[in-house]
Amino acid sequence: MMGEGERDETWRVLKMFADGRFQHTLQDFPPTLQSEFHSMGASRQKDYGSLVAATRILGKEVFDVQGIGHLNFGGREYELLKIVSRPALSPYAVQVPICLVAGVHGDEPDGILAALELARRFAGSPQLLSNYSLTIYPCVNPVGYERMTRENGAGKDLNREFFLNSAEEEVVVMERELRAHEFIGFISGHSDYESFGMYAYATGAILSERLAKPALFQASSVIPINTDTVIDGHPAQHGIINQKFPGSLGPLSKGTTEPFDITIETPNLFALSKRVEAQAIAFETILHEYRAVAAEAVNL
Ligand SMILES: [Zn+2]
Repeated sequence: MMGEGERDETWRVLKMFADGRFQHTLQDFPPTLQSEFHSMGASRQKDYGSLVAATRILGKEVFDVQGIGHLNFGGREYELLKIVSRPALSPYAVQVPICLVAGVHGDEPDGILAALELARRFAGSPQLLSNYSLTIYPCVNPVGYERMTRENGAGKDLNREFFLNSAEEEVVVMERELRAHEFIGFISGHSDYESFGMYAYATGAILSERLAKPALFQASSVIPINTDTVIDGHPAQHGIINQKFPGSLGPLSKGTTEPFDITIETPNLFALSKRVEAQAIAFETILHEYRAVAAEAVNL
């Protein structure tokens, strides 16, 4: 999926310039890129069915892929999925429930591919397998994914619709999931076309920042960290923002422990393969770091 994904990304970014969204236009690009863009056509779509197929073949010995609901749009039905790790066989195992969400914005394939990559790494790590119960929601916005748009089919930015009584089917399905499960940690993957480096939103429990820092540091071997003091309109320190937009998807606080909540953002400026690698490293680091922090807490 990566090769085709890179072509989709080339088309999507050039299309933004062709549509006049920036100061520079398509004519400012080298002629080879311009003709590449024209050869790809004025419209282009991804296929959600291929993503579903790629999801379904993930680590069958480790994961179950389950439907969580349907979205009806444009005369088509899209099945929304989750990937769930199977419970440990030993009744003595303690597995921390964590969820990972991607594809809320259809024009951000990094998170989706990185979520699938994390599932592969998770399946290959006895340490992670024994310590976590992992639930992955790989693509919240299937119509946006196919059209490569931030918004869903109805033109809504789903990340401004959560916990506000939205009637958008994608939101209703995800809210139902979050009410039904108690996650200790919430991780999500997004991307940003204005940033020159990687950064993270760390909200919820204080722990979020403690986990986000090493995640960014490890991922900075692939993509540098954005160290600006203001990112995406929020004050930031060392690439970490402590605020969130109202209506953004996050954990529901239900139990006595406030869940950690970390969103990793990668810059569009880098090739998709790099963005996916950086996010997968960040996701994996969060899981390993949480174990380290939990071990520290036991020693207190
Ligand atoms: Zn996003």
